[in-house]
Amino acid sequence: MSLRASLRCGEGCPGELPVLEPIYACPRCGGLLEVAHDLEALRRRGAAEWRALFDSRGPSAPFPLSSGVWGKREWVLPELTDEDVVSLGEGHGPLVPVPRAGAALGHEPLWLKQCGHAHTGSFKDLGMTVLVSAVARLRREGRGPRAVACASTGDTSASLAAYCAAAGIPCAVLLPRGKITAAQLVQPLASGARVLAIDTDFDGCMRLVEALAADGTIYLANSKNALRLEGQKTVALEIAQELGWSVPDWLFLPGGNLGNAAAIGAGFELLLALGLVDRRPRLGVVQVEAASPLYESFRRGFDRCEPVAAGATAATAIRIGAPVSFRRAVRALWASDGIVERVSERELAEASIAADRAGLFVCPQTAAALAGLRRAAAAGVVRPGERVVVVSTAHALKFTEFKAAVEAGRLPAAEGPPLGQPVELPARLEDVRRALC
Ligand SMILES: *Cc1c(COP(=O)(O)O)cnc(C)c1O
Ligand SMILES: [Zn+2]
Repeated sequence: MSLRASLRCGEGCPGELPVLEPIYACPRCGGLLEVAHDLEALRRRGAAEWRALFDSRGPSAPFPLSSGVWGKREWVLPELTDEDVVSLGEGHGPLVPVPRAGAALGHEPLWLKQCGHAHTGSFKDLGMTVLVSAVARLRREGRGPRAVACASTGDTSASLAAYCAAAGIPCAVLLPRGKITAAQLVQPLASGARVLAIDTDFDGCMRLVEALAADGTIYLANSKNALRLEGQKTVALEIAQELGWSVPDWLFLPGGNLGNAAAIGAGFELLLALGLVDRRPRLGVVQVEAASPLYESFRRGFDRCEPVAAGATAATAIRIGAPVSFRRAVRALWASDGIVERVSERELAEASIAADRAGLFVCPQTAAALAGLRRAAAAGVVRPGERVVVVSTAHALKFTEFKAAVEAGRLPAAEGPPLGQPVELPARLEDVRRALC
């Protein structure tokens, strides 16, 4: 079966560009591009055949089909061959029912899609395997960029640096100085990337990296690059597959640059277009008070995006004031009758405690998403009994400073059982026994 994908303008301008071309914006209107799949060719396989094919490829399939992303390769980037693929075993993050967390947060049934169970500890690996594989192909053909770079709130750079190291591709990352966690800073350093800590915020780093991409100095690895979204969209495919090829009523996720909301929306769109599911879930995108341009726009009927200067928040990975994929995300929200919620630092910390006491150990961004769900359920927007999936975007071990602060009561968290502090004891049995009673 010969399948192909191309780049086209997300704003609807006519024309197509080769899918591997290092172009990030429409030459006519400057809008962002998206990967368009040849639906006619994909429809030569019926829905039942696609389901059976994808179901036949699990973690024990031969490499690289064992990857959650490359197991769906026909829908991702069909022109890449095995030789091109740079995979570190991404995808297959478990979808788990979390009834105790649901009860504590005021909504059941609740499921968590664990995208932080990933090689570098965040969902960014899903997109990065696709982008770095495409760069590897360009380099093999002698058309490759000298180096790849991104701006990051911490997880994009960790992921890009690891995949580039695996492929032997030079990589640079631009980080806002002092605004990412220690783990996130160590990751690209360990991978041997050139790490630039810049005296600005994420949005300032983004402007710099865009200028470097525009003059061809670097290949841009931010989610403005449509190839990232093709990998990230497999989260939607996995969720539908894990639910026996059905969709939940709602899907909640934290939103920063808004590439993930757009990607997941596109995934459900493709599932629907090819008949594997019969409807979309409603999207619930959650932002924090310190950085909520999408929420402000939602309140005004999505008229426009007014960039803000993003303030300090525990959810550092979504501290973004000028989201690049704003229009893409708005299209996904419109299509799904979605909503946007905004939560305070206190609500975020409380949701984190509630989820952790139910065994989850969520990152602060996922805590924001859970707090947003709690709000939407309390307001009756999410109705009792509706099936909700929350996307957990990173592993909380990257955010131990946040966890330590919450447990020490240094973050605004009122509710919940007494905050946990380790009890220091000598190595004597009777002391230990007394401490347990
Ligand atoms: C990148 C990131 C987000 C935000 O995703 P966007 O696509 O930028 O909206 C949320 N949580 C974590 C942990 C992230 O790394
Ligand atoms: Zn255009």
